[in-house]
Amino acid sequence: MTNKDLSLYIHIPFCERKCLYCDFLSGPADAHLRDTYVQALLLEIESYRNTPLAKQNITTVFVGGGTPSILTEEQMTAVFEKLRDVFAFRNDCEITIEMNPGTVTEEKIKCYLKNGINRVSIGLQSPDDELLKRLGRIHNYQQFLDTYQMLRAAGVKNINIDLMSALPGQTVAMYCDGLQKVLELEPEHISAYSLILEEDTPFYEMYNNGRILLPDEETDRLMYERTGEILYKAGYGRYEISNYAKTGFECRHNTVYWERGDYLGIGLGSASLIGHCRFKNTSDLNVYTEKWLAGNGAEVQRMEEEQLTEKDEMEEFMFLGLRMMGGVSKEKFRRQFGQDIQAVYGDEIEQLMKQELLACSDDGSRISLTKKGIDVSNYVFEQFLL
Ligand code: SF4
Repeated sequence: MTNKDLSLYIHIPFCERKCLYCDFLSGPADAHLRDTYVQALLLEIESYRNTPLAKQNITTVFVGGGTPSILTEEQMTAVFEKLRDVFAFRNDCEITIEMNPGTVTEEKIKCYLKNGINRVSIGLQSPDDELLKRLGRIHNYQQFLDTYQMLRAAGVKNINIDLMSALPGQTVAMYCDGLQKVLELEPEHISAYSLILEEDTPFYEMYNNGRILLPDEETDRLMYERTGEILYKAGYGRYEISNYAKTGFECRHNTVYWERGDYLGIGLGSASLIGHCRFKNTSDLNVYTEKWLAGNGAEVQRMEEEQLTEKDEMEEFMFLGLRMMGGVSKEKFRRQFGQDIQAVYGDEIEQLMKQELLACSDDGSRISLTKKGIDVSNYVFEQFLL
């Protein structure tokens, strides 16, 4: 019997400074707290040693944050040595690290390569220094360029750049110019998301006080449309609502999320899906470190645990699968649930096709969002709630 595949997500919840729009589980911390956290993380990784998960094939690893590149070389190496010691990495494992310009050195890049990291995701957000300042980012465009060039010079061949649209004061022309500028660098992958105003962020407050103005919905939609057109012309395919890649550089790790493969989240607030179970670690940094260092880490793992019903899984299959431009496979639905997709969602699919929001592939085997469907994707996804 062959072992099942497993993806790992490792959360590093530290940043130099909090960006004004960000509600991720991240923030500044002193060197001592960062070190304590890494000690706790190592203990959590160790806790999986004698479990069935340690025998599964690790096909992708994603070190995210926060700003993982804030860790020292020694800390990052300790994390990877422990991961490789406990888990069974496949030789062709995709290993991604997120980084922010201004936190990376040549020594750190060397360390990443030595640890087998083969994909880098850089948070740029915009090549416009004025907008970067407005967002509260710690870096300017030149610092991003320095990081990018350091990575290329070190031989990194798979780079993603994160970009944001619908930023305060941004026009469609400004956004498109910025995108063209970034494309000159020829990254392998681009993630392009609209700014979402999140409660409990300084931006939310600033917006409500009239201190920042955001582009309206139509401008936001236009930016999205132009992203697709510009990237398509430059040779990138859209493979998910907000993700674009040169052929063969689609992010395998994120695809596991959308295809509902098994993934294990390690670290503060990390979420996992293993078989029919979703669970999540505590999101309280002090509780996380104290419990692990006191030998009671198991108490803060699986804090929120949910056994998924077949109904939950069918819904997820549809709305996660439809995020991908290739859509969902009818055959895969039948294999997973022992029922025909038409028997469960026949009416919804028919209705959405009539509205031209969904389409069937030429050979009839897959269902995917249309261009019109992408614009109202949340509405489409809601139709699949049973
Ligand atoms: S660097 Fe990323 S994770 Fe950190 S505060 Fe900014 S947006 Fe949030």
